Amino acid sequence: MGQGDYRILHEAALRDYLAGLPELRALLGGEPAAWAITEVGDGNLNLVFIVKGTRGGIAVKQALPYVRLVGESWPLPLSRAHYEYLALSRQAQLAPGLVPALLHHNETLALTVMELLEPHIIMRKGLVAATPYPRFADDITTFMARTLFFTSDLALTAAEKKEAIAAFAGNHALCKITEDLIFTDPYRIAEQNRWTAPYLDALAAALRDDMELHVAISRLKLKFMASPEALIHGDLHTGSIMVTESQTRVIDPEFAFYGPMGFDVGAVLANLLMAYFASAGHERSPGERHAFEGWVLETVEQVWAGFAGKFLDLWRAGASGDAYPVSLFAGEKGAARLEAERQAYMQRLFTDTVGFAAAKTIRRIFGLAHNIDFELIEEPKKRAVSEARAVRLARGMMVEAVAFRTIADVTGAARKLR
Ligand code: ADP
Ligand code: MG
Ligand code: MG
Ligand code: MG
Repeated sequence: MGQGDYRILHEAALRDYLAGLPELRALLGGEPAAWAITEVGDGNLNLVFIVKGTRGGIAVKQALPYVRLVGESWPLPLSRAHYEYLALSRQAQLAPGLVPALLHHNETLALTVMELLEPHIIMRKGLVAATPYPRFADDITTFMARTLFFTSDLALTAAEKKEAIAAFAGNHALCKITEDLIFTDPYRIAEQNRWTAPYLDALAAALRDDMELHVAISRLKLKFMASPEALIHGDLHTGSIMVTESQTRVIDPEFAFYGPMGFDVGAVLANLLMAYFASAGHERSPGERHAFEGWVLETVEQVWAGFAGKFLDLWRAGASGDAYPVSLFAGEKGAARLEAERQAYMQRLFTDTVGFAAAKTIRRIFGLAHNIDFELIEEPKKRAVSEARAVRLARGMMVEAVAFRTIADVTGAARKLR
């Protein structure tokens, strides 16, 4: 099939397409005419169908040639499906069991068939309902430590690393969305910005006039654009994580490219912190969500500590990459100096993480794409109170990232604002 053979597969066409694939047909079971097909895409960009037969089910994701949230006026390359597939394959090797199994990919149709995650739900929904997820911290830290470490210069040779960067370099249209919507628009007048008006009008104006903040967000933008440290997921918010009490699965890596590690870790922390601040707005009686909120902040601490611990353990266990050549750190003296440098490396990564977490927060409150954590707080005044607290913490984290030395500094500051 040539490039021109792309077509959007709605229900009937999708049924015919799947019926022509013997392995999927067997997996689903029964007659194709009897398969139940439902469109469930709640994301901003793509179509997702759940298909169920008499034996099993699958999830089918197809990229559209435009941004779903906005429509045909905002074109977006279909190639993102290729990068999503490539990233998902790599993540499946590096973090087995933490992403949905891949069942089929059609490059021309920009279509991928995956394992149906069931009864998993989107984590963000669970957090709005005050559900704690006891497996989450351990699973997400394994995912991040392994995907980031093994795609970095600590684990790859220089040649492998540059080939890997090249394989994702074409995903620049997705990077540009991040560069605009996260690192630029919330800080200037932009048509697509919105916020909880009129309550946050003054705060929105203050951000547009805050030059310290503009310097800080511009430094983060440059770091995002010019730091191919590792293969990052690129959109690792709690809407890209599906969970049950006992399982965690990371989905939707279409924004993947070689970028700064702190962007992924910061995304997870920011989304937990937003769930924390939003929680007050979902309370029906005072203190009702107290235990949940305690779990959220504990999880923030465990995510950083767990990630840093696992990443350092992988590094100590043997780094085969070209960075930090072992020949430069021979003997007892070398080992001690290298260990001190590992700690310093983690501290720099923590500072990046704090800054990126702040950027991920501010865009959800003043930019185009908001999240249900805040949006489902019906009373605008209440929502604005939660949002303003999150913004206050984020402003501090962005402008004075280095003042946050430990993750307890972050959770301590969050607790004071609640
Ligand atoms: P988008 O890129 O448009 O955001 P996602 O990959 O996030 O698309 O998928 C959109 C929604 O489809 C998810 O929020 C989830 O509800 C559902 N979904 C996606 N993948 C699966 C899957 N493997 N199993 C079950 N549901 C899925
Ligand atoms: Mg999504
Ligand atoms: Mg999204
Ligand atoms: Mg997506």
